[in-house]
Amino acid sequence: MRFTRRDFIKNSFLLGGSFLLSPVPIYPAEKKEIKWIPAYETLDREGKLAQRVKQAYALFENCQLCPRKCGANRQKGERGFCRAPIKPVIFSYHPHFGEEMSLAGGKGSGTIFFSNCNLRCIFCQNWPISHEGRGKEIQDEDLADRMLHLQKMGCHNVNLVTPTHVMPNILNATRMALRKGLQIPLVYNTSGYERLEILKILDGIVDIYLPDMKYMDADKAAKYSAGASDYPEVTKKAIIEMHRQVGVLKLDQQGIAIRGVMIRHLVMPNRVAGTEKFIKWVVETLPKSTYVNIMAQYRVEYKAYDYPEIARGVTAQEFLEAMDSAEKYGLTNLDPQSVALRNFYHHRRSN
Ligand code: SF4
Repeated sequence: MRFTRRDFIKNSFLLGGSFLLSPVPIYPAEKKEIKWIPAYETLDREGKLAQRVKQAYALFENCQLCPRKCGANRQKGERGFCRAPIKPVIFSYHPHFGEEMSLAGGKGSGTIFFSNCNLRCIFCQNWPISHEGRGKEIQDEDLADRMLHLQKMGCHNVNLVTPTHVMPNILNATRMALRKGLQIPLVYNTSGYERLEILKILDGIVDIYLPDMKYMDADKAAKYSAGASDYPEVTKKAIIEMHRQVGVLKLDQQGIAIRGVMIRHLVMPNRVAGTEKFIKWVVETLPKSTYVNIMAQYRVEYKAYDYPEIARGVTAQEFLEAMDSAEKYGLTNLDPQSVALRNFYHHRRSN
C-alpha cells in the first residue's frame, strides 16, 4: 500500500502531531546509567591517595591540623587544644534522618560523630561529645569498617561530623574502606574553622563539604568560641577553597547530593551570628545558586545560659528577618525545609 504525504500528515495529527513537531525520536535510545565514582577513588586510581595519607599523618608530629596550630606531638601522646589523641574517638555512628533532605534521602546520611573539637563553642548542642570527649577510641581499620557498615545499611554518604582533628585517620580509613568496596561520597561536616593548607590535602578526596558559617564578627567568635577571633576570616577563605574544589551542589536523579558545597548558618538571638552580613558575603563571593541552609533550631545549651544575649531561642521574627534577607539579596538555592518553615510562619501571620 502506498503511503502518501496526506496519510503521513493525517497520522501525525492522530499521534498528537509527534511526527511533525517532536524533535526527539519516538523510540529514544535506551539511557545508559553512568556509574558515579567517588572523588577518592579517582585520586587513588591516579596513585595519589596513599601519598595524601602519608602527608596527613606526618602532621600529627607537630599538630597544625587546624588554625589553633598547637604544635602538640600527638604521635607521642601529647594533646593540644582539642584534647584529641592520635587515634580517632567516636561517640556513635548510624543513619541520620535529621540532616538536609538531599543528604538524608530515604535511607539516611551515614553519620559518624567524632569526639573532641577544635572550636568548642559555649552553646554547643553536642557538648558531652565535643567538649568532654565522651566516646570510644578505635583504630583506623575499625573506622573503615564503620564506613562500610553504613554503606551496607543503604546510607547515601559517610557524614563525618567534626572531622578536622582526625583528618589523617579519616584519610587512612577511607583508603582501607575503598579497598573493600566503599563507593559513597564523603561529607566533610565541619565548623568551617579550617586551614587552607589542610583543605588542599583533601582536594580530590571529599565530594561534599558541609561547613558552618557561625559568625561574621571577630569579637563574637572570640567570645563564644574559645578565643577564635580569626574564625570569620579563616572560615570565609576555607569556604572559598571548598567551592573551588567541588563547586555548587549537584544532585543525582533521585535528588541525593553527590558533590558540592552546602553552607549551614545558624540564626542566633539578637543578630549575634551576623546573618545579613553572611548572606551579603555569599552573594558577593560565590554563585547565587550556592546551597545555603539558614537554620532556626538554635537552643540554649551548655554554657549559653551564662550569656543573657543568647540565653533564649530564636523568635519567628528573627528567623523571618534572616530568610527575607536571603531573598532580598537573591540567593536561589535555599534549603527546602527552611523555605517551608518561612512559608509556614508567613501563612500563620496572614491568617
Ligand atoms: S587539631 Fe587539635 S592539637 Fe591539632 S592544632 Fe588543632 S586543636 Fe591543636
